[in-house]
Amino acid sequence: MPGSFRSGVSHVGDFLRDHQRALRRMQWVIVGFYITLLVVPSVLPLPDRTASVFNNLTVFAQFAFWGVWWPFVLVSIPLFGRVWCGLFCPEGMLTEWASEHGRGGAIPKWIRWGGWPFVAFALTTIYGQLVSVYQYPWAVAAVLGGSTIAAIIIGWLYGREKRVWCKYLCPVSGVFNLLAKLAPVYYKVDVEAWRHPVRRTESINCAPLLPLRHMQGAAECHMCGRCSDYRGAIALSMRSPEAEVVYIAEGNGWQTTLIVFGMLGLAVGAFLWSASPWYVTIKQALAEWLVNRDIYWPLMANAPWFLLTHYPEVNDSFSWLDGSVILMFIAAAAICVGGPVFLGLWLADRLLPPLQRPGVRDASGHVLRSRLEGVHKLAQGLIPAAGIGVFLGLSATTLTLLQHEGVSTLDWANALRFALLGLALAWSLRFEWRLTGLRCHYALVRIGAVVLIALGLVPFCGAWVLFFVVW
Ligand code: SF4
Repeated sequence: MPGSFRSGVSHVGDFLRDHQRALRRMQWVIVGFYITLLVVPSVLPLPDRTASVFNNLTVFAQFAFWGVWWPFVLVSIPLFGRVWCGLFCPEGMLTEWASEHGRGGAIPKWIRWGGWPFVAFALTTIYGQLVSVYQYPWAVAAVLGGSTIAAIIIGWLYGREKRVWCKYLCPVSGVFNLLAKLAPVYYKVDVEAWRHPVRRTESINCAPLLPLRHMQGAAECHMCGRCSDYRGAIALSMRSPEAEVVYIAEGNGWQTTLIVFGMLGLAVGAFLWSASPWYVTIKQALAEWLVNRDIYWPLMANAPWFLLTHYPEVNDSFSWLDGSVILMFIAAAAICVGGPVFLGLWLADRLLPPLQRPGVRDASGHVLRSRLEGVHKLAQGLIPAAGIGVFLGLSATTLTLLQHEGVSTLDWANALRFALLGLALAWSLRFEWRLTGLRCHYALVRIGAVVLIALGLVPFCGAWVLFFVVW
């Protein structure tokens, strides 16, 4: 019977659908708050050492953006899906609003390129480190403000009432897409009810351009609720948080790159370099090498603030050498941490029987599979580990800011960090166990594959031990 698949939680979706105007008003309030925190600190003098979150807007904005907003948006995604994107994100709202009033052009091919989620994440992460985005309001204005202006321009140019920016270009959409696969809520489509609609058949606007009828998971849905009860066939529903990764997500080359070399590799380098004595050693060795050859220009700290950190008034400026060593450090982390993870996945894939995809066959009837299809599926199991890495790095900033406010955090922080890391790793390995079970029934082979993947994660774990304990 149509509608019988609806459960109690589906009323939340209906509520969101029925209050879209109120939600839009709330989004404008968030936009006002966001722009204030972005613009006002950048015209104020830099805070001195005594400035606190309670008496200085710049420090308050720093805490709001990096101490609260980022880490907890990240936590909200595996808990509630991309509710942040659909209901609260000022950038998403502004790009959709621009698209409502814009040119409505067709989406060009370059925007649809599948590599953007990784490339935009990598570039933003690296650029943020070079300009010290966690410390300085001008850098925040450049990174977040630049992204918001780009979102508005893309919204104005392409799509009609759509979120083209969010779907294809947003620097964090790739990360959110992966984490949303763990959410225990999603909009479920009842195919039978869709075929025989009993109500609500007038068209609706799914801003992130999802093919509603064939929607299977939560990865791309912004949870806005507009499609709730559409044709009596779509309803907010509960599910196992493992269902999408195990049964739906296939992964692809760019998603694997984002998980393995982006979130597990590059992000670790971006969080660790400033605490690393290796960074200082490499920099000193290179500086000596340059001075011995009378090459001095890389030691000059004369780059503008929007290229490299440049705040001589507080004695904080990066030389060209600083910037180059940061880049080298992050690239090395991506290779040294991401490389073993990829190798572990690849060896595990080789150990297992080929991944079968019934129905995808070549002319002679052989099952078609790309050489890395099995690796991509196994990589999806590492989403919890990848997510916790980014959370640990961002929450380190939260704790640093809290310490500045006089809150003693070190006693319990490391215990909590390693507990969270352990839980996320255990969940990832449980995923791998289930994913290997889709391909093989021999326990020893499955154990071997999971052990190989676990071994690949050792440098990732080692990096956090260095960061939180050794350094
Ligand atoms: S499928 Fe589209 S319209 Fe439906 S909740 Fe998700 S984002 Fe909104």
